Amino acid sequence: MEKYVFVTGGVLSSVGKGITSASLGMLLQRRGYSVTIIKIDPYINVDAGTMNPYMHGEVFVTEDGGETDLDLGHYERFLGINLSKKNNITTGKIYMEVIEKERRGDYLGQTVQVIPHVTDVIKEHIREVSRDTSADIIIVEIGGTVGDIEGLPFLEAIRQMSLEIGEANRVYIHVALSPYLHTTGEQKTKPIQHSIQELRRIGIQPDIIIARSHMPLDLDAKRKISLYGSVPLEAVINSYDAPTIYRVPLILEEQKLTRLVLRKLALSENNKVDLSEWVGFVNRLEDGLETLKISMVGKYVKLRDSYISIIEALKHAAAFHNVKLELEWFEATDIERGALDVSEVLNGDGVVILPGFGKRGFEGKIKAIKVTREAGKPLIGICLGMQLSVVEVARNLAGLTGANTTEADPNTPHPVVVLQEQQSKLKRMGGTMRLGALPVKIFPNTMAYEVYQSYLVYERHRHRYEVNPDYIGKLESIGLRVSAVSMEDENRVEIVELKKNIHPYFIAYQPHPEFKSRPLNPSPPFKSFIGAVMSLKEYS
Ligand code: GLN
Repeated sequence: MEKYVFVTGGVLSSVGKGITSASLGMLLQRRGYSVTIIKIDPYINVDAGTMNPYMHGEVFVTEDGGETDLDLGHYERFLGINLSKKNNITTGKIYMEVIEKERRGDYLGQTVQVIPHVTDVIKEHIREVSRDTSADIIIVEIGGTVGDIEGLPFLEAIRQMSLEIGEANRVYIHVALSPYLHTTGEQKTKPIQHSIQELRRIGIQPDIIIARSHMPLDLDAKRKISLYGSVPLEAVINSYDAPTIYRVPLILEEQKLTRLVLRKLALSENNKVDLSEWVGFVNRLEDGLETLKISMVGKYVKLRDSYISIIEALKHAAAFHNVKLELEWFEATDIERGALDVSEVLNGDGVVILPGFGKRGFEGKIKAIKVTREAGKPLIGICLGMQLSVVEVARNLAGLTGANTTEADPNTPHPVVVLQEQQSKLKRMGGTMRLGALPVKIFPNTMAYEVYQSYLVYERHRHRYEVNPDYIGKLESIGLRVSAVSMEDENRVEIVELKKNIHPYFIAYQPHPEFKSRPLNPSPPFKSFIGAVMSLKEYS
């Protein structure tokens, strides 16, 4: 019998349900259980692919090409496993299926209603992940906050599941914020009490309450939460702010969260749990010996969540090399309109040119690439960052005046980056990019080979444009090597790099290697980049 952990949130969104679920998953996994995690997003979008990263944060891409909520990125990083697009359930997906069934005639004669028809499809989607993965424990995180109108059918579905699977096979965990009132110096628990009441109104009594707070909670506050929340004191767990998200599992483990969960699920506690590797990683991450400054050039820099997988990949690489990173953010649109001096990008010891869509800010990024290339500072470009690196080199090294990507200028005299042929025929936006893990063929005697130490790798993609194969000859003649192509179509460029006699470290990737980076197994491109930044800094 599969076992479920349902995680709900109270008081506010962004209290860290995602990190809590990921941390618990990792701890259960270390006790020998196979775990998968599902994220439920009650919004009506079918997936996150069409959502603006500026509002919603990064779109995380799975191996199978799902465009999902960024929490799936946390799950993959903490658990070290690949998830499927099925692990992200949205209201849009559920309703699309219910309406399709209705049109097909599956419900003939019936009035189609939220209960039971919508809730049945929700439960079926959850069970499908359970069947596909045969995981021992399935964690289901319900996005949003208890009390949101759009979350109700999902809460109802997980209430019903308890009846079907039996109480011993499920745990309800409620994660809610306990705010600190500076004016009176008090830790408040009332908002948590109210959110638990709201949850009970729906028919769910939590088994465990995780109180999020800035500082560690005192016993008084815990007692109150225990009393009003109707859970034993030991089931009030406090997740206080940690220096890094990777410390959260250690904080939860100390308070015996895993033991509580396993007891409730009538599973063996398997006391021997070895977290030493993880602890080593967290310590290196928090206490790195030397600090490196990295300039991050992008368009959505005000919301750091827009680039979360890249930030995490850089951190994994930094911990590997035992250094600390200081990320300095540059808004490409500010560089573009002259409000920010592009030479400031060179304050960094290395430069990351971030992904993006839509021509605003392109010229700012191109300027940043130019100064970085001319200064000989290490540069890594990701996706759009790769495409614009090609544009910059075409214009300024190959002398192709006015070269551009057709995403910015459809009438450019030198379209060095163009829409992929298949893309030009598409009429719909959602889920239509070149998506997911695809084979990349790496050429010998290239920096790309040094990075991966392999001739074939699978990286995840999410793009509509690509380097125009007609210009490869010209670009290679001035020293921009195509060091990897698609295994499926050798005309499709995957990695470019400047020859070492032109620049010590200039490499750019069409895919998004950041999506596969793990704390204990950093992504090779980021590991190599941080290594290069370290050695070139010493040299200068
Ligand atoms: N806008 C570019 C494309 O669609 C780059 C996408 C990206 O950076 N993810 O190809």
